[in-house]
Amino acid sequence: MTLQFREPEPELITGATGEWEIIVGLEVHAQVSSQSKLFSSAPTDFGATPNSSVGFVDAAMPGMLPVVNEFCIEQAVRTGLGLNARINRYSVFDRKNYFYPDLPQGYQISQLYHPIVGEGEILVALAPGVARRVRVERIHLEQDAGKSLHDMHPELSYVDLNRTGIALMEIVSYPDIRSPREAAAYILKLRQIMRYLGTCDGNMQEGSLRADVNVSVRPADSKAYGTRCEIKNMNSTRFIQQAIASEARRQMALLEDGGDVAQETRLYDPDSGSTRSMRSKEDAQDYRYFPCPDLLPLELDQAWIDDIAATLPELPDEKKARLIDRYGITDYDAEVLVAERQHAEFFEQTAAGRNGKQVANWIINELFGRLNKENLTIATSPISAAQLGSIIDLIDEGVISGKIAKSLFDIVWREGGDPRRVATQRNMLQITDSRALEDAVDKVFVASPTQVERALTHSKVAGYLVGQVMKLTAGKADPRQVSQIVNKRLGDLRDQS
Ligand code: MN
Repeated sequence: MTLQFREPEPELITGATGEWEIIVGLEVHAQVSSQSKLFSSAPTDFGATPNSSVGFVDAAMPGMLPVVNEFCIEQAVRTGLGLNARINRYSVFDRKNYFYPDLPQGYQISQLYHPIVGEGEILVALAPGVARRVRVERIHLEQDAGKSLHDMHPELSYVDLNRTGIALMEIVSYPDIRSPREAAAYILKLRQIMRYLGTCDGNMQEGSLRADVNVSVRPADSKAYGTRCEIKNMNSTRFIQQAIASEARRQMALLEDGGDVAQETRLYDPDSGSTRSMRSKEDAQDYRYFPCPDLLPLELDQAWIDDIAATLPELPDEKKARLIDRYGITDYDAEVLVAERQHAEFFEQTAAGRNGKQVANWIINELFGRLNKENLTIATSPISAAQLGSIIDLIDEGVISGKIAKSLFDIVWREGGDPRRVATQRNMLQITDSRALEDAVDKVFVASPTQVERALTHSKVAGYLVGQVMKLTAGKADPRQVSQIVNKRLGDLRDQS
C-alpha cells in the first residue's frame, strides 16, 4: 500500500518583468526528547529557574570533559530511520568556534564533516492526491546555546544557561520547497513524524522546534539558483510563511531593479511584516571547524541500528494508506485522523466492526469540534471510543435518530455513562411503534385544520405537518415513517372529498 500523488502546480509570484519562482530550503533544529543534555547529566526541564539546570560541562568549567549521552544518539538514529535516511555508522563531533555570551565554551560541539544521518526524504501532502517530495540532506547532532536576556534590566544583559548543552538534531533539507505553504507543511510533517517516533515533542512555543529558512528567487523559466538569504530562528509556521513571502518579494524587486541579492542572515519582524539584515552570512571556514579532541568518533554497530529499526511504529504515510484501504475512508479524512498517533488509535478502536466513514465523520466533526471548543485533547476526552461506538450503534440499530444522537453525545460528554442506558432512562428512544405515530399524526391534524386543508392542494405544506409531528414527539419519531403516514392520511382525505 503506497500513496499515489502528483506534484503541486507551481505557485509563482508576479513582478514587473514577469513571473518568479520561490526556492526554499530549511534547517530545522529539533530538540531531542531527553531527560538530560547531550554531553552532561544536567536536566532539560522547560521553564526551570534560570541557571538551575547547568552542569560543569555546560558551564565550561576548566578540565571538564563531555560524555556522550547514548540515549540522544539513539533518538537521532531513530529519527533518521523514520525519514528513510541513511544512517552513518561513522560520525564525528566537531567544534564550531565562535564567541557569544551565552556560549561559555567559546565553541559549539556540532557535526560538520561526518554527520550521524545522511540523505533521506519527506513526503509533504498539500491536498488530496497532491504532495511534494522534499529531500533531506543530513541530520547532525549538536549542543544548543544558552539564552541572553536583554529586557530585564535597563543597562545590563543577563544570561540563562539552562538550554546550554541540550541535544538538538539539525535536520537540513535540500532546496526542494517551492512556496510558503509548502514550507509550513514540511515543518508540520517533520513534526508529525518525530512525534510518532517520540524523538522530539515538536512544541514550537517552548522552542523545541525552530527553523532557519533559506530563501531565494529565480525567473520562472530559469533553472539556476539565485543567491539566498537565511532568516534565522523562527518558531511559528505562520510567521515562517509571512517571512518567506515578504523576503521573496524583496529579492524579486531588488533583482528587477538590476540589483544583486547579498548573501546574508536576516531577521523577520512580525510587527512590520518584513525582514531586516542581521549580519553578512558567514561560511563554514569562518568558524574554524575541527574535530573535537575531547570526543572519540562515534562508531555504531549495525545490529544496534537494526534493533532500533525493529521498534519503529507505523508512521503517518503508511498509516494513512492503511486506513484508506481498510476502512474505506477518504484521503482527506485519513489525513486528518493520522495527524496525531492518538487520534488514529481512537479512530481504529471506534471503527472496529463499524462503518469507517460514519465513525470518521463523528470523530472529525463532533468529537474534534467539541474537544477544540473546550480546549481538550483526545487524551482528556470525556467520551471514550467505546462510548462513541455505542452511540453510533444505537443510530444504526434505529434505536435513536441521528439528531437525537447529538443530544445523547452531549449528555454522555457532560455526565458520562453507558449511552444505551442513558438513552433509555432519558426517554430518547426512537418511536417506531406505528400506533404511537398514528396517534401523534391524529393530534397534529386535529390541532392544525387550516394547514391540513392547504396541504390537500399544496404538497409543501405536508412537510410542515411532518415537522409538527416531529416537534410533538421531541424528535424521536422516524421522519420517513411520519411522512408516509401524513401522506397516506392526506390521500385518504382527498379521496373523501
Ligand atoms: Mn545549528
